[in-house]
Amino acid sequence: MADMHYDVVVVGSGAGGILTAIRAHDLGLRTVVIEKTDRYGGTSAVSGGGIWIPSCPWIKDPDIDQKSLEYLRFCTDRQVSDERLNAYIRSSTQMVEYLDELGVHYFIDKNNSYPDYYPDAPGAVPIGRSMYIDTVDGRPLGDDLYNMRESLPEFMLFDRITLSLSEAGILLYRAPGWRLLVLKLLFKYWTDFKGRMTSKRDRRLNIGSALVGGLRKAMISRNIPLLLQTRMDSLIQDDGAVTGITASRLGNTFKINATKAVVLASGGFEQNQVLREKYFPQKTQASWSVTPRDCNMGDGLVAALNVGADTEFLDQAWWAPTMTKSTHESPQVSRSVPVFFERGYPNCLCVNRHGNRFVNEAASYHQFGQAMMKDNEETGGNIPCWFIFDSQFRRKYPVAGILPSTVTPDSALPKGWLDKFIFKAQTLDELAAKMSIDKAALTKTISRFNEQARTGIDKDFGKGDNVYNQFFGDPTVKPNRCLGPVSEGPFYAIKLDLGDIGSKGGPKTDENANVLDVNGKRIRGLYAVGNVAGSVTAGSYPGAGGTLGPAMTFAYVAANHIGQRNT
Ligand code: FAD
Repeated sequence: MADMHYDVVVVGSGAGGILTAIRAHDLGLRTVVIEKTDRYGGTSAVSGGGIWIPSCPWIKDPDIDQKSLEYLRFCTDRQVSDERLNAYIRSSTQMVEYLDELGVHYFIDKNNSYPDYYPDAPGAVPIGRSMYIDTVDGRPLGDDLYNMRESLPEFMLFDRITLSLSEAGILLYRAPGWRLLVLKLLFKYWTDFKGRMTSKRDRRLNIGSALVGGLRKAMISRNIPLLLQTRMDSLIQDDGAVTGITASRLGNTFKINATKAVVLASGGFEQNQVLREKYFPQKTQASWSVTPRDCNMGDGLVAALNVGADTEFLDQAWWAPTMTKSTHESPQVSRSVPVFFERGYPNCLCVNRHGNRFVNEAASYHQFGQAMMKDNEETGGNIPCWFIFDSQFRRKYPVAGILPSTVTPDSALPKGWLDKFIFKAQTLDELAAKMSIDKAALTKTISRFNEQARTGIDKDFGKGDNVYNQFFGDPTVKPNRCLGPVSEGPFYAIKLDLGDIGSKGGPKTDENANVLDVNGKRIRGLYAVGNVAGSVTAGSYPGAGGTLGPAMTFAYVAANHIGQRNT
């Protein structure tokens, strides 16, 4: 293949990459996006599509910028410069306005919006920073829609009908009008006759596919090229500056020259077992990650290291406990499924392999993952741990995409799941034996938990004590919506691995997303956005949308900076 020439070369077609390309194009730069797999969208397309915007204009508080700074300083433990934090705070609101111009609309759902993940920290707000994405019409994408990665089945109704986060909230809590909503969704899906004749894929795009699909529409309308199955192999450096990449496509190797910049938007390294073992503090498996298996292998990190980049936060990931289960379609294939919020409901608790609780179960998935690591260091009995619930829970609440037993009774679960992925027993002693946990220890832990559940006060870990916990509780349960005894058999247990939704360490960048070398100097022509870069939130997860929010903000910032530079 002949060499190519552009102003800006963007590596990776997640939300960070595509947004960089669109913005750079709008600033008059000739831009290309390359994607190594045969589908675009990366983890962004399978995500919830939410973004965390620290000073979201919806929050009517004249001091919000200062509060956002205080909150982020707390979250990052002062490991990130104020310049970089302020760039995130200031530019994220401009980025959302820009998305609006592109036809990708975000909003605050005041009936169902997440509180910050550290609700008691200085500068935290109970509602207003986590924005949801509006539904996008996928029909104008035509056949290109089928080149985009699809949402996880657990995020869809009947594994195929897409749901916005607001719709998912209504169904999850069976809020007033949920039945009508199901009928409406079924109607819309089945009356898309043209779509149904082609594929079972829903062309009403929601969450991550709305984000990537909406951005892809903007990209197509601008004729910005997207080269699928085109992998960046290395960066080209000339006199210290990055001037292009070497790439390969279907066995051919060639150069793509960049007169202005190369922007790495190639995701983290979570799917690379060797890099996980090199950088993460505890042994974990790539297969526990919920990100697509074929995308993020750390190519951007390795390429940046080879041109002298400094790095930070390589020991960090966006942690999330996951369970393994097989798919309905292929019982032989197991995969990891996130257990994001279910731990916040009543009638459940989590224990380590010694049968002891170790965390406030209703903490965010990231904090839960960190607690698993800490407990494993201290007791050697975590990773995996166990999520235990009783038949009251099973009747009322979903878990890891498995609907309550009133909708999906145990008899309707796929054959072979019970006692392989979901352990079930009539008594706690029997359950303990199936989990290989000491019976006496487990019974003691659950008796104490049940006593506290009856009073509504979890003296040990404070489950249900803050607004974040309460957001995921059951409002009909009193006095504490997150606490209820685990007392009615049959009892159930699910093994939780230390999964993730991406790694978050990589090349160190400045407030313009420009990569820095080991002497703290900017590497001319090299930018990094999204999970390939060392995160602006350090080891923390500030709120729902805390990964896409920064990825897209610094995509916008990087393109602006490249557009302003003369060389
Ligand atoms: P990605 O979207 O993963 O894109 C990277 C792309 O680069 C991939 O397509 C990959 O194939 C490509 N690539 C890699 N190497 C090369 C190479 N050498 N050459 C060319 N291309 C390459 N975050 C939120 O903020 N809000 C949410 O609601 C949310 N929900 C989530 C739900 C789930 C189930 C999961 C798994 C994640 C969720 N996340 C969420 C996390 C979020 O999706 C990711 O952090 C984010 O998408 C990362 O974006 P990115 O652009 O850095 O990488």
